[in-house]
Amino acid sequence: MAAVTATAPAPPFRLFAVTVRRIVDLSPSFRRFTLVGDELQHFADNGFDQRIKLILPLEGAGITPLPANDDWYAAWRELPDHQRNPIRTYTVRQTRAVDREIDVDVVVHPVSGPASRWAEDAVIGSELVIVGPNAQHDGPHGGVDFLPPAHTDMILLAGDETALPAIASILERLPLTARGTALLEVPREDDAVCVPSHPGFDVRVFGRNGRPSGELLLDAVRETAPQLLRGAPATESTELTDVDVDSELLWEVPSDEHGGPAREATALYSWLAGEAGAIKAIRRHLVSELGIDRKTVAFMGYWRLGRSEN
Ligand SMILES: Cc1cc2nc3c(=O)[nH]c(=O)nc-3n(C[C@H](O)[C@H](O)[C@H](O)COP(=O)(O)OP(=O)(O)OC[C@H]3O[C@@H](n4cnc5c(N)ncnc54)[C@H](O)[C@@H]3O)c2cc1C
Repeated sequence: MAAVTATAPAPPFRLFAVTVRRIVDLSPSFRRFTLVGDELQHFADNGFDQRIKLILPLEGAGITPLPANDDWYAAWRELPDHQRNPIRTYTVRQTRAVDREIDVDVVVHPVSGPASRWAEDAVIGSELVIVGPNAQHDGPHGGVDFLPPAHTDMILLAGDETALPAIASILERLPLTARGTALLEVPREDDAVCVPSHPGFDVRVFGRNGRPSGELLLDAVRETAPQLLRGAPATESTELTDVDVDSELLWEVPSDEHGGPAREATALYSWLAGEAGAIKAIRRHLVSELGIDRKTVAFMGYWRLGRSEN
């Protein structure tokens, strides 16, 4: 009888070793990094808000090698501080499997963290590692939180600059028949060049110009959401347990038990991401004040003012 060799199933996420191929300043606040690597032929192109992790080099130590299998995270945690590379979360802006390339748009923000420092210092040929969706995995990968019901009349997309790459990618992937509004608060008006249009969407971009983060976005949602809801039955005003955004993650993405949309149909589906304090205030407005069903809204704190992502 022939021997049967069992191969381990491919994991949904895997490590991809890449280098920087191109760096383009798209606008005053956005720098696009085109990352290239042979392994990217196996990078799954799921679009929408697909998130990835960047494992960033340490000054003087580069990238500490990690096992290519599922054990990489446990191995990373065991590393001594001086060898444990910082990890930060980003969005895939574009994928070109044929060229073995992906684009990541990084906000160049003045407060220095490992990722913003890397975005300042990286040059063509700089090395890093991506933790991303594995095309060889048989099944859903996870990491996509834009999960609208099959039938929705209107979509509300709202976010700050960290959510701009995701909102741009969602607008590009949605069918032309989709309808909705996209609200974006960005550091400067001229960052609007990074947002694509969609024939069914009213896309509005607000330049913060030094005002407190999230203020303009909350005002814009307050003005827009009741108009989008017009005629749609709101549920009873819902009691909310507030999340302490300084100690907990603000992340509520309604889905079914298979990771699909939570509802089959809804009048309005909302997707909101950005600074956790601002998203918390918007969440309170939509759910507690407007009585919108929580199962039709995805809320994600992408970063927290004054705290680093760890
Ligand atoms: C799912 C997901 C997708 C994301 N996609 C993107 C993306 O495509 N592009 C992108 O640029 N960001 C994206 N982010 C946000 C990014 O992960 C954070 O901004 C991250 O904190 C940056 O890491 P850092 O090392 O620069 O700063 P950290 O070490 O995390 O923080 C250091 C300091 O910088 C501050 N800070 C962090 N981010 C900002 C900011 N944007 N503006 C001003 N101050 C800031 C912190 O409050 C802290 O005080 C995403 C986050 C998530 C969760």
